[in-house]
Amino acid sequence: MRLALLLSLLAGAAWLGFRSDEPNRPTDHVFPASRPQIPTGYKRNAWVAEPPAPLNTSDGTVAAAETLPIEAAQRNGEAVALAEVGAFDEAAAILRELAHDFPDSTVVRRNLRAVLTAIAARTRDEGNVPAALDLLEEAVRFGESPEVLGLLGSLRLEIGDVARALDDLSRAHDLAPTDVGIALAVARAYIEADRRDRALDVLLTARERGARHAAIDAMIERTSRELDAEWDFVRIETDHFELDFEPDTPSITVDEVAAQLDEAFVEVTGKLGVRIDGTPRAVLYPEVNFHALTQTPDWTQGVFDGRVKVPVGGLELDDPRLGAILRHETAHHVVAELGRERVPVWLNEGIAMWAEEIDDERRSWSEERLVGRPIVPLRQLQRPFSQLEREAAEAAYAQS
Ligand SMILES: [Zn+2]
Repeated sequence: MRLALLLSLLAGAAWLGFRSDEPNRPTDHVFPASRPQIPTGYKRNAWVAEPPAPLNTSDGTVAAAETLPIEAAQRNGEAVALAEVGAFDEAAAILRELAHDFPDSTVVRRNLRAVLTAIAARTRDEGNVPAALDLLEEAVRFGESPEVLGLLGSLRLEIGDVARALDDLSRAHDLAPTDVGIALAVARAYIEADRRDRALDVLLTARERGARHAAIDAMIERTSRELDAEWDFVRIETDHFELDFEPDTPSITVDEVAAQLDEAFVEVTGKLGVRIDGTPRAVLYPEVNFHALTQTPDWTQGVFDGRVKVPVGGLELDDPRLGAILRHETAHHVVAELGRERVPVWLNEGIAMWAEEIDDERRSWSEERLVGRPIVPLRQLQRPFSQLEREAAEAAYAQS
């Protein structure tokens, strides 16, 4: 079943430095980008210490919603003081009581929403996403704000609930069209929904309106580059993947990569003993564009950035390294689905390299790579390995 795939001219450069008798070496780059951006606005202190002075309306009556009895206004003040020193739970307890007694007070509702959002953000940072979602669902009942909707949508995206994430994030974006974090999160949600065109629209419009940030520029560049490169790509469904490729890719190549992808999926999920819902996506790029498109160093031969990306043309189809690359990148997909980006890079790479293996040749490779080289600090292993120099990258993979 292993057939010959064209070696492109660039293959030599991409494989530079790796002797063919070295079965294992750094193969890829996993982007941290699939972690949803947390809207920048969520940390804003949005509580109100004093109810605004009652407004005289045109007919001479006083707007009733903001008039709290003195005792309640004092309790609200206590809650705000607590929130300001970070005692959010105590503040929330007071505000929940007030919201019960004065359900129409916009001040109380707004403060409770802000405090619940702050608790949710903290809970999320502690790793408890379901509890954070419960808090945000409670918060949003007290009115919508970019903070609460942005965080809610980001967390839904984090657990893979793309449709509802898009809904929340789009509303957040409508309320705060220049919030950089929210714009990035909406774009990310569109990309997850396989709507790169919409993602690009959102980013371009946000930038035009004043959302200026290097992260926006970078995402615009990458998304448009992908859209340009893939505008005429065709898609097939394999047993386990959606596979996109250039229409003139030889069908023998497509068939073989598709077969090996499906095999990789079965092997990796079997080896990890997990079941994955949802369909992973894979893209075959022509070798000549691969590194420019994926913005990866020359030594990378596969990429996972939400989709498994492999260059075609750089490998012989019967080269066992193709299977290893596909297993490696598929493992990143599996880890992303299971861990939703809570997995540190060193663990992610370790799992991916373990998944590559059919027999246990890794240990000797790792030991060989670590001999006489400085150990890469663990802190550095949190960053994508492609940011490391090549030798450090090999050591980093070996340590994983
Ligand atoms: Zn990897």
